[in-house]
Amino acid sequence: MKVFIKTYGCQMNVRDSEALAGMLTNAGAELTASEADADVMIFNTCSVRDQAERKAIGKITFMKKYKKHNPDLVVGVIGCMAQHRGQELLDKIAHLDFALGTGQLHRLLEVIEDVRQNRRKIALLEDSSDVLEAMGMHSDYANLRPHTGMIAITRGCNRFCSYCIVPYVRGREYSRQAEDIIKEAKMLADKGVREVMLLGQNVAAYGCGGNVNPPPADVSPFGDLLQEIAKIDSIKRIRYTSPYPTFFTDKLIDIIASEPKICRNVHLPLQSGSDRVLKNMNRQYTADSYLEIVNKLKNKVGELTFSTDVIVGFPGETDEDFMATKDLMNTVGFDHAFIFKYSPRAGAKSAEWADDVPQSVKEERNQILLADLEKRSIAGNLACVGRTLEVMVDGVSPRNPARWSGRTSTARTVVFSHTEGMKPGDLIQVPIERAGRVTLFGPGLVGADEEL
Ligand code: SF4
Repeated sequence: MKVFIKTYGCQMNVRDSEALAGMLTNAGAELTASEADADVMIFNTCSVRDQAERKAIGKITFMKKYKKHNPDLVVGVIGCMAQHRGQELLDKIAHLDFALGTGQLHRLLEVIEDVRQNRRKIALLEDSSDVLEAMGMHSDYANLRPHTGMIAITRGCNRFCSYCIVPYVRGREYSRQAEDIIKEAKMLADKGVREVMLLGQNVAAYGCGGNVNPPPADVSPFGDLLQEIAKIDSIKRIRYTSPYPTFFTDKLIDIIASEPKICRNVHLPLQSGSDRVLKNMNRQYTADSYLEIVNKLKNKVGELTFSTDVIVGFPGETDEDFMATKDLMNTVGFDHAFIFKYSPRAGAKSAEWADDVPQSVKEERNQILLADLEKRSIAGNLACVGRTLEVMVDGVSPRNPARWSGRTSTARTVVFSHTEGMKPGDLIQVPIERAGRVTLFGPGLVGADEEL
C-alpha cells in the first residue's frame, strides 16, 4: 500500500503527520511523494484561517481525477478541518472516503482498512485523550534535518482566546506522561537526534491538569520535564513552542537560567500591547504583567532573543491600542514575529463582533510593525559581529550551496564554510565577520553570500 500525505498548517500538524507516517510504515505501508502513485491519500489540514481551509478543500477536490483512474484509491481528510467540518466534507465531496478528527488520529490504520474492505464513508470526530500515547511514533519521512526531532508533549487547549478556533478543533488540553516523553527523547537521541523541539498549544502548562491558571511561583512541571530531557547526554539543545506567558513561573525561569541546553530564544505570544484589546481577546495578562515576565527572563537568563505572535486590526483596535503594541514590541526588543492581520474565524467568539478595522488600516499597521522588526533584527545581527558564537550545524545552506549553515541557541542563522569531518548536529564555534538582514556570516565571502 503506497500512502501520500500532504500536511497543512503548524508544527503540531507536521509532527502528527510524522507520527502517522511512522505508524503506517511500521504496518508495512510505503510512503510516496507522488499523488499519481498513491493507493491512499491523506490530507492533514489546518483550520486556523479560512484561507487554509479553502486551499485544502481545493486540493482534495482536485484529487477526483485520480479516483477516476483508480476507483480503489482511498482519500481521507484528517486534523483540524476534519474536526471542524468532517461530516460536511464527506457529504459534499463524493470521492472523499473518511474524516478523522484530531482526537482520533491513532485509528488511521483501522479506518483505511475499513474503507478498503467495505467501501463506505467513515467519520470519527470524538475528542479523546487516547490519541496521546499512540502518537509517539517517528519517521524520517520528509524530515530534512534528521539531527533534529519534534516531540508533542501536550495536545489541545483550554484557554478559548476569543479569536481562536484551536480549542474547538484540537479539543481539551491533555499532557502526556513524562516517562513516555523521556523514552521518546532517548529513542530520538539513539537515532542521532541532537536537538529536540517540544510541541504543544501551551507547552508551559505541561502537567498542570488543564488548569488555565498558572501554578504557584515555585512550581513548573514543564521545567521539571526540561531538566529530565537535559540529562540525556547526546541531546545538546532543547527548544519548545508555544508557551503561554503566564506559565513562566519563577521556577521555570530559574531552570532555564541554570540549564544551558535550553535554547536562548523564547517565543512568547503577545497578540496585543493594549490592555483593553488583551481583555477582549481573553488573554490573561496585561502589558505590564507581560513585561514583568520578559524582564525576569532577561535578568535571570542573560542573553536571550524573543519572538512573538501579534494580531493587528482586532475588532475595536484604535490607533492608541496599536501604538501600545508597537511600543511594547520595541521595549521587549523582538527581532522576529508572526504578524497577522485580523480576520474573523467562524466558530470563534470574536467572529460575532464587527470586523471594524478597515483592511487598509490593518495593512498599514502590519507594514509599520514589519519595518520595526527589520530594524531590530539588523541591529541584533550587527551586534554579533566580532563575537564567536556556538552554532549547531544544520548542513548545506539552502540558499548558498557553496556554504553550510546552522543556528545559534538564540535562533540566529549563521552561514560558514564546511571543514573536514563537519556534520549536521555538531556544535561548532564560528567567528562572526559580517551580518545581513537575517543571516550572520563566518569567515570569508563565498558563492552567493552577497545575495543573502
Ligand atoms: S492559547 Fe489561545 S491562541 Fe493559543 S491555541 Fe489556545 S485559544 Fe488559541
